[in-house]
Amino acid sequence: MSMTQVKPRTIKEILDVMTSKSSVDIDLVTRAYEFAEKAHTGQLRFSGDPYFSHVAEVGFYLAQAGLDAEAIAAGLLHDTIEDAHIDEDVFKKEFGDQVFMLVDGVTKLGKLRYQGTQRHTESLRKLFAATAKDIRVLIIKLMDRLHNARTLSHVPREDKRDRIAKETLEIYAPIADRLGMSVLKQELEDAAFPYAYPKEYEKTREILRARKHEDEKQLEKLEHSLKRELGEAGIRNFRTEARIKGAYSLFKKLERKKWDITQIYDILALRLIFPSIADCYSALGIIHAHWRPVPGKIKDYIANPKPNGYQSIHSTLYTGSGGALEVQLRTEAIHQEALYGIASHLIYKDRQFGIKNPQAGITWIRQFFPLLKKQTTDNHDSGISAVPNWINELAHGEEDRTEDNYIETLKEDFFSHRIFVFTPKGDAIDMPIDATPVDFAYAVHSQIGNHMSGVRVNNKMVSLSTTLKNGNVVEIITKPSAKPSLKWLEIAKTSMARKFIRTALAEQEAARR
Ligand code: MN
Repeated sequence: MSMTQVKPRTIKEILDVMTSKSSVDIDLVTRAYEFAEKAHTGQLRFSGDPYFSHVAEVGFYLAQAGLDAEAIAAGLLHDTIEDAHIDEDVFKKEFGDQVFMLVDGVTKLGKLRYQGTQRHTESLRKLFAATAKDIRVLIIKLMDRLHNARTLSHVPREDKRDRIAKETLEIYAPIADRLGMSVLKQELEDAAFPYAYPKEYEKTREILRARKHEDEKQLEKLEHSLKRELGEAGIRNFRTEARIKGAYSLFKKLERKKWDITQIYDILALRLIFPSIADCYSALGIIHAHWRPVPGKIKDYIANPKPNGYQSIHSTLYTGSGGALEVQLRTEAIHQEALYGIASHLIYKDRQFGIKNPQAGITWIRQFFPLLKKQTTDNHDSGISAVPNWINELAHGEEDRTEDNYIETLKEDFFSHRIFVFTPKGDAIDMPIDATPVDFAYAVHSQIGNHMSGVRVNNKMVSLSTTLKNGNVVEIITKPSAKPSLKWLEIAKTSMARKFIRTALAEQEAARR
């Protein structure tokens, strides 16, 4: 146990980084802070620090990420029901239904009704169900996990440390990634990595240490000459930033490259941040005229964003001294999104998605909220209602899934293997990697699924069992007389499609009788 206790974040520190300065919001956050401090009085963390320091930190992270006062208050209060046994009605009376709903979503199920793995799995399922109604629930949970991962060294049992660390890497970091929250993803990974894989961590750190100094010198030199060349071409309105690769992400890459460090060019990268997308392309032209790019390493994620919405132009340049360095070109608006992802869209209640940041890449917004219009009506009216498709899948998956394969589904299907396919109008639909046109049709609308008679992929007629690929444009052909068959159950990969098909088949059966 440490001799000196960590001082909890003060309310002033939280209010200082909070986006809104309205008196209503300040009042809500202040009341939540004081309530939580009182509720957790006398409770300690494994570290010997006051328990309150944990929730104050979570509130601070949420304020820093730009979330609204309700979410910050919920972050401060997130353990009052589970760990300080505050009565639900007392809580609701004090903070209202919205804040209660957020806290309830991250609260684990009762120890009396559920135990062990089952409690764990059912709590995750509950978390996703709450998230499907309000995405802020998931962000609060991620910040909670970030602080728990950062304080893992104090957890006394090794098996528990190992479990929390691996779960952070396998479930929570990929979720942050899917939400486009790259800073949070890297922080989760780097906090958990030393406890999940201690030996590999040491090895990776050695490599980082050995390479960093030389790379830093190279980066400084490149930055200097880039500024000069771009300046001579009349491009002066931009800023630069060094990006250091996270240890865990470097480890994953080292594994892929069989630990050949010479194959890795992006331990350090130079970001160039411009006012407009046109500036990015002009600068790229000038850069390639002066530095030869490494073949095959030019990636235009502005024209073709990654499935999680990530944008930027990447190119790796030979620096002339035998080395190579990656440059990343992006706009300020893209930069904010790349760092904070979905959170950068949740800042104001009445904010229209995408309107405040016209450069923010409408593609991103469309990719992330393909069913925005349809979903808005189902959810509460705070305006923070758009929930990515995959969360709904997690929340409303097949009921017959067992605990074990629910976690497996989480790890495998949802986070590592997703593709985006498009409707003929260009709306993106988020699907698992082995999805077929049947899955696609039901993801668009159950009636389109139920009356599908054929499909065109990239303008060619194909069979319904074709496996869709990232970027495919899929056009479903419907006929009023067409209806689902038993074979579709085998073709469909998503639980959503299978559920609709089973319902339709049961209705056909009932009508025949
Ligand atoms: Mn907590």
